[in-house]
Amino acid sequence: MSAGQPESLTVVVPIYNEEAVLPELGRRLRDACEGIEGLDWRVLYVNDGSSDASMELIRAQRTEDERFTALSLSRNFGHQGAITAGLAHACSDAAVVIDGDLQDPPEVIPELVKTWREGAQVVFATRSKRQERGWRRFGVMCFHRFFRWISDYPIQSGTGVFTLLDRVALEEVNRLGETHRFLPGLESWIGFDQRRITYQRTFRAAGQPKQSLSRLVCYAFDAIFGFSYKPLRLLTLGGVTISLLGFLLALVFILRRLFGVETAETGFTTLVTLILVLGGVQLCAIGVLGEYLGRVYDEAKSRPLFIVRERLGVDEPGEG
Ligand code: UDP
Ligand code: MG
Repeated sequence: MSAGQPESLTVVVPIYNEEAVLPELGRRLRDACEGIEGLDWRVLYVNDGSSDASMELIRAQRTEDERFTALSLSRNFGHQGAITAGLAHACSDAAVVIDGDLQDPPEVIPELVKTWREGAQVVFATRSKRQERGWRRFGVMCFHRFFRWISDYPIQSGTGVFTLLDRVALEEVNRLGETHRFLPGLESWIGFDQRRITYQRTFRAAGQPKQSLSRLVCYAFDAIFGFSYKPLRLLTLGGVTISLLGFLLALVFILRRLFGVETAETGFTTLVTLILVLGGVQLCAIGVLGEYLGRVYDEAKSRPLFIVRERLGVDEPGEG
């Protein structure tokens, strides 16, 4: 940012089949950003392989207002992939990431910008109350509790992707090239002056959630295995505990045999139970190892995190 020039802001919005929300989204984003003084803003929609009319609606918004720009990815890369693509293309003084389903209200953007102007480098918008229904609400709550306990870099409960990053933080996040991305964790990890504001998360404006249960579970795994070795340590601890118990049990049996307390052991049920329990524990352990190994394999392949099909008013990263 040079003196006298207005500060620039890019609002990155991942879009996957959001035709029902896009008209209202565009309107509310414009109203929210327009109200901020001395700000040269633009919206960067990242079309994540939508199969509905989302891209046409985005084009229509761009025809009306040049400040609406877009990237279209070659296929569906997922929520985190879409945001990564958007952040890689943001060449402004700051970037805001916001979900495109209006669960994160654009009206909070002025407050994010205000906190940034007060000196913050990373501003998290934290949900004061989660507006989800049924298993989603329960699952997300359990995940945040569990993640706080297991992670080596805890994030505050209720923190999602709705954030503002200043230029320095943005460049650092862009430098983190890991394949399995959990952005709230990465943004915490980079450090700098981090602050929080709270907002009330609302229900989706229209349409169905685009993240299926299996996607959310994968996302939770990325968060856990990407930010903690605790699962491995727990396995070691579990192994040591079971071994100790096994030795104690063996000792008891030997002593009983030696002192002739009871010689004719049947113990079929005990045996089957032990085999099943230990077999289960071992398979879980292999599964956890596999999670880490699979991630190492993905990193070794180092495929690009996204592929761009089309750019509307956006330069390639590093240009312009
Ligand atoms: N999204 C995306 N790619 C996907 C799934 C979702 O870009 O593969 C977008 C979606 O359009 C929305 C945002 O990511 O703007 C959040 O998605 P959703 O509301 O389904 O997730 P949740 O609120 O359950 O985290
Ligand atoms: Mg949503």
